Amino acid sequence: MTRPENTPSTRPVVGRLAPSPTGLLHLGNAWAFLLAWLSARSQGGRVLLRMEDLDPQRSRRAFADAILQDLAWLGLDWDAGPDNAGGTEVAPGPLVQSRRGHIYAGAITRLEAAGLTYPCFCSRKELRQLASAPNLGEEEAPRADPCRNLDTAERESLLAAGRHAALRLRCPDEAITFDDAVMGPQRFAPGDFGGDFALRRSDGVVAYQLAVAVDDGIMGVTEVVRGRDLLPSTPRQLLVMRFLGLAAPRYAHIPLLLDADGERLAKRHASLSLATLRARGVEPARIVGYLAGLAGINPAGSPAHPRELVGRFSLKALPRTDMRVMEDDVARLVGEH
Ligand code: GLU
Repeated sequence: MTRPENTPSTRPVVGRLAPSPTGLLHLGNAWAFLLAWLSARSQGGRVLLRMEDLDPQRSRRAFADAILQDLAWLGLDWDAGPDNAGGTEVAPGPLVQSRRGHIYAGAITRLEAAGLTYPCFCSRKELRQLASAPNLGEEEAPRADPCRNLDTAERESLLAAGRHAALRLRCPDEAITFDDAVMGPQRFAPGDFGGDFALRRSDGVVAYQLAVAVDDGIMGVTEVVRGRDLLPSTPRQLLVMRFLGLAAPRYAHIPLLLDADGERLAKRHASLSLATLRARGVEPARIVGYLAGLAGINPAGSPAHPRELVGRFSLKALPRTDMRVMEDDVARLVGEH
């Protein structure tokens, strides 16, 4: 049995909230951020707020501002965030990914120099055909990425022909194992997470996997609490941290909130955005109390401020399966019955 990538840590607890400003926060985001905050605070830990605005096409300043307001409205606070432009002792550098390009570039240079990367010239369409996987994005590659074994001359002729290349990490042919505080022991073979993945897209945008792994590592994050939809990202982030010699956090992948049809709550569920609920007169303590009820630490679901829940929080109380938010629940939240 190989040793799990993330062994228990004795470092001071640092948690993080890592929103992407691509829309307004909804109940599902509030659920994940509340639990991440409670987990860190219940261990006397610090909380970082990092704005993940790397994708220039999808990120909006107005959403970033709204997210900060919504989180504060819910009653969550943080020890370092986007306002600390120069960073803090806890977290060097600005806590806004679009301003950390030089840090990611340095990490990529180190991985390149160690021979751990290669340029991939395949278009999204070519990758899809190779994998026969219609939903494969540019950031994932089939295990048999044809660019993995190009020789220098082939690479140079493609570059000379003006082909743009993504940069991929050469993943070792071995399983990655880690212990998840909610989901238990995990084991991912390279094929389970799409194989060699992009560190930088062909349009030059740094990939989520690289940025998050570098940031969590450099910022001394000791625990990551996030939705279980991100579980397959974890082996990739662990690899990046391993190759850069960064200490890995403990991971807790929490169940998702679903709508009445079983779909994951997402930005399209506008009626469940915090802004809409606030506009309908819902008090933040009702939302927090309801979510804490789902988390198993507030049985009656009665209104609560996050601070009042710190002493009651335990990941052990958390259900292990996704949960549906029913129309009745929302009606109760907005006080319709
Ligand atoms: N920024 C990512 C998102 O909003 C979350 C990243 C993470 O928690 O690792 O989906």
